[in-house]
Amino acid sequence: MASALRPRCALTIAGSDSGGGAGIQADLKTFAAHGVHGLSAIAALTAQHTQGVTAVQVPPLDFLRAQIDACFDDFNIGAVKLGMLANAGVIATVADALRARQAPFVVVDPVMVATSGARLLEPEALDALRTRLLPKASILTPNLPEAELLLGHPIADREAMHRASRELLALGVSAVLLKGGHLDDDGDVVDIYADADSCREIAHPRLSVDAHGTGCTLASAIAANLCLGVPLPEACIAATDYVHRALRQGYRPGRGDVVVLDHF
Ligand code: PLP
Repeated sequence: MASALRPRCALTIAGSDSGGGAGIQADLKTFAAHGVHGLSAIAALTAQHTQGVTAVQVPPLDFLRAQIDACFDDFNIGAVKLGMLANAGVIATVADALRARQAPFVVVDPVMVATSGARLLEPEALDALRTRLLPKASILTPNLPEAELLLGHPIADREAMHRASRELLALGVSAVLLKGGHLDDDGDVVDIYADADSCREIAHPRLSVDAHGTGCTLASAIAANLCLGVPLPEACIAATDYVHRALRQGYRPGRGDVVVLDHF
């Protein structure tokens, strides 16, 4: 039995995926694989499997707040990861909680639409995400479709990704990891890390699989590394390596073609 007193914990505030490949379930597996104690506040429940999302339920907002407060009241929280937040009411509840409770790091995965096409954030909530949560983000981890929705214009190539990462910083986030996996390109997948002082490209060989839960896992791996004291740019590099490795070993748990990550 380990005896470390009050180790740093990572808190995920996100949606539950009944299929176990994304959301809270992926986040907790990722925290455990990094040796970090995982906490969770469930912001939405999804009924889903490898072929899609069949139903979504948002818990009462005072119950969401109670989950977040219970975590902050008792645990030494080193980083918070935000995932599926469903609507503007949930976003306001999370923003209020984060204003009241101090978290050293906040990793924001701006989950909007699942790979299967299901909407995980109401379109009317985009403005609340932009104005209430982005200014609290230590790092924002959008994929290209999410960054396009946040910025309101297309991002067509690597040059445009560099410009977009600076535009995202101007929305008030401290750093950005803009994921390039959706770029129509046969070469490596190139992500761009940018903060006020630096900008770098992070490349990995492209794995041609229909993957589920990569965004959740990446943001959680960043949060776990931050809990372990790894500086932000290196936390992003370590997290992209982790996702690449877990995806290379990925497996198909259901009847759909979808591959989930192997965290073991
Ligand atoms: N379901 C939940 C609850 C999620 O939080 C996410 C995260 O992005 C997804 C589904 C989407 O996963 P993906 O787009 O990787 O299929």
